[in-house]
Amino acid sequence: PEQTVRRRVLLLCSPCMGHLIPFTELSRRLVADHGLATTLLFAAATSPPSAQYLALAASAPDGVDLAALPAPPADALPPSAPVRVRAEHAVASSIPRVREVARSLAAAAPLAALVVDMIGTPARQVAAELGVPSYVFFTSPWMTLSLFLHLPELDASRAGEHLLDATEPPICLPGYAPIRAHELPRSMLADRSSESYTGLLAMAKEFRGVDGILVNTFRDLEPAVGDSLEGLEVPVHPVGPLVWARPARVDRDHECLRWLDQQPHRSVVYVSFGSGGTLTWQQTAELALGLELSQHRFVWVVKKPHQDTASGSFFGTSQGEETTMDYLPKGFIERTRGIGLVIQAWAPQPLILAHASVRCFVTHCGWNSALESILNAVPMIAWPLFAEQHLNASMLEIQVGVATRIRTGPDRLIRKEEIARAIHRVMEGQEAERMMKRASELREKSLNALSEVGCSTQALAQITDTWK
Ligand code: UDP
Repeated sequence: PEQTVRRRVLLLCSPCMGHLIPFTELSRRLVADHGLATTLLFAAATSPPSAQYLALAASAPDGVDLAALPAPPADALPPSAPVRVRAEHAVASSIPRVREVARSLAAAAPLAALVVDMIGTPARQVAAELGVPSYVFFTSPWMTLSLFLHLPELDASRAGEHLLDATEPPICLPGYAPIRAHELPRSMLADRSSESYTGLLAMAKEFRGVDGILVNTFRDLEPAVGDSLEGLEVPVHPVGPLVWARPARVDRDHECLRWLDQQPHRSVVYVSFGSGGTLTWQQTAELALGLELSQHRFVWVVKKPHQDTASGSFFGTSQGEETTMDYLPKGFIERTRGIGLVIQAWAPQPLILAHASVRCFVTHCGWNSALESILNAVPMIAWPLFAEQHLNASMLEIQVGVATRIRTGPDRLIRKEEIARAIHRVMEGQEAERMMKRASELREKSLNALSEVGCSTQALAQITDTWK
């Protein structure tokens, strides 16, 4: 019998694991639940691609055709170029290759849509050439999207050298607490004539020209922000929480899961700063001492410290790159043996957060980490580092009620006593109970959103219906 050819969606992801993970899950759902075929291109920033990319590619779901595009030459940008500039550069240099792939796919079967991440809007030109609709899949919260969508107006209404400085009243947008200068992503605070700021503003304007924006969130998590975005010129669809649902064999066999099996129910603090977050040498040592001081059990995914940046391993590591952990305080590993487990570089995070022994997550508030925590009802200690993480931290504490923010000292160091105190706030007592209850409620709501009749599943179905 003649087989109907599935329409294909082409997805382009910038070189961020925190984007690629939800993009892979979105692709899997398009194939498994919506009868589409997908090609997912990853605009790599390094050559060869990182060990983390290779591990994910090795366990890519059936029907998801995942490929890394060649990275731009390593010396194309000065070593000091910030992460966002590097990511944008990788995407911009991938466009000719994206065009080639799109043309050859379109010759074989009709292309239904192009889906890019927040950095990928320059690829819209390829969709326009082929007459296919283009969408953004926004892998941060609705709240950050709202801020982006409002940026052109905010920019036009302000006169200063910076969008906001510490002396000015905060930015008030519908649905969330007033935003103060120190909570904004650094590029939004940059000098308004700088490339960093003008690039961001141009990106925000591009957002208004796409056919739709999918957001990795669900209505019950940010209801007021969602309501405020109704009726915008660009339709916005909450389709989350989409998290990595298909752990690879190496992840399922990871030693930390055997270790967690032996720990008491809800007794362990999990510590990780995402795929790229790094601390200074002093802060890394202080965190070790704080964990020790708390006297709670822990799993800590430790990264080599970085003095100059908080996103020191953003583009991942190469295989076998880990070295000795001589940056940890002397005797720390021996003293905490049996109570704590230190893992270098990368851990099977979704499986750790799903483990019944885990009670608390010390997180940099990357949006995937927050969603994975919520899906598993694990309350958080919010320790934001860069990008929109300060906004996420305040939202998770104030609006959502599942986190407590860590307090930074006057010298920007977070002291061991504060680390131990924050752990106690989440592990014991009334505040801990309240956060746990709220986290459990949200877990139910997130599972509902993803069920067959749930609002996120329905939202995705509505869009894909228009693609068929
Ligand atoms: N992740 C992981 N193991 C690690 C570190 C990160 O599996 O050791 C995954 C984590 O589960 C999440 C993603 O990488 O899905 C990180 O995304 P997030 O948005 O939290 O932060 P980012 O890395 O983008 O800063």
